[in-house]
Amino acid sequence: MIDAADESSGVTLVQGARWVVAWDPDSSGHVYRTGADVVFADGVLTHVGPGYAGPPPDRTIDAAGCLVMPGLVDIHTHLFSEPMNKGMWDEVGSQRLYNTSLYEYLPILRPDAEGTRAAYGVALAELALSGVTTVCDLALPSEGWLDFLGASGLRVCIAPMFRSGRWLTRNGHSVEYAWDEAAGYHGLAQALTEIEAAQAHPSGRLSGMLCPAQVDTCTAELLRDAHDEAVRRDLRFHTHAAQSLSEFHEITRRTGKTPIEWLDDFGVLTERTIVGHGIFLDDHPWTHWHSPGADMRRLAERGAWPSAAPRSPIARRSSPAAASRSTISAATSRRGSTWASAPMSTRTTCSMRCASSRTSPGSWPRIPAIPARRMCSTPPRWAAPGRAGAPTSVD
Ligand SMILES: [Zn+2]
Repeated sequence: MIDAADESSGVTLVQGARWVVAWDPDSSGHVYRTGADVVFADGVLTHVGPGYAGPPPDRTIDAAGCLVMPGLVDIHTHLFSEPMNKGMWDEVGSQRLYNTSLYEYLPILRPDAEGTRAAYGVALAELALSGVTTVCDLALPSEGWLDFLGASGLRVCIAPMFRSGRWLTRNGHSVEYAWDEAAGYHGLAQALTEIEAAQAHPSGRLSGMLCPAQVDTCTAELLRDAHDEAVRRDLRFHTHAAQSLSEFHEITRRTGKTPIEWLDDFGVLTERTIVGHGIFLDDHPWTHWHSPGADMRRLAERGAWPSAAPRSPIARRSSPAAASRSTISAATSRRGSTWASAPMSTRTTCSMRCASSRTSPGSWPRIPAIPARRMCSTPPRWAAPGRAGAPTSVD
């Protein structure tokens, strides 16, 4: 339907869309419009509404029967591993570790160089099919990955993971940690090098954030130093926390605090922080912690971003509360939902559909005056066009 060869410049008219998810300045939110045209020129939206009557377009796309929406932002995925994990471990977990697959199953399958490249191809295609235009890739750097990401056409924020130790289980019911604190700082230095390369990538679509991999595999010093570096470089900061009940127990055993409370305790739970996945907070019914609700309030008060990935935890029955987490946190923080497709998928719409089907419609944040569901929001800074260690297994 595109009737011009050069799609990169000039005026493009997306005509007569059945639905348009549009920004409504009066309500400061997204709303549904019907029968609208969308016009952009040189990457800038110039018209959203019915009856476009501006300069003749260079190309026209017939959008009858279509929904036109802003590109989705997938805030947390692992492009190098999830295509292999999907179909293998979706519904598999260690029964004596509260059904998580983190410690006993996910470390088994790791792609070689050819497999990594194939996984990236599958994952990026799935993301594009899901309407994702910006993705955060929590990854272990691999040969040529920046060029591959740059060629995808998506905006990619790389998040090279590093940590002070790795987890393991010898018996399937207890998790141990093998520490190598120097490796954590070596990984931090490597991540900064990769981020600088991403920021300078000729595609102009790559950026970066700092990602100490997990709250339980990083020392407080590494987490704090990485956050300080993120502040210095004005980067976002991302770490897995409250993602399994075993991790919740490990952190409470070490510190007497919940994972979220501990991060807050030494100052890394801030507006630049993304918490993946924030499932086992102190109000999760499995934790039976003494202060239910305090973790969610901390996240909201500090302005931190939980990345919601409801699909797989629900499939493994390890987190019946996961689906509602994203909407509750969105309502609490009033900044919209943040979506993650990992683990096990890069179909972001699948995660959204899963959350939708498992959540009471009444719990979705509503936009005043105009009935509509908030579909997504774009986190500031790293989602903008522009410019993103070596554990043996991560998730
Ligand atoms: Zn993850």
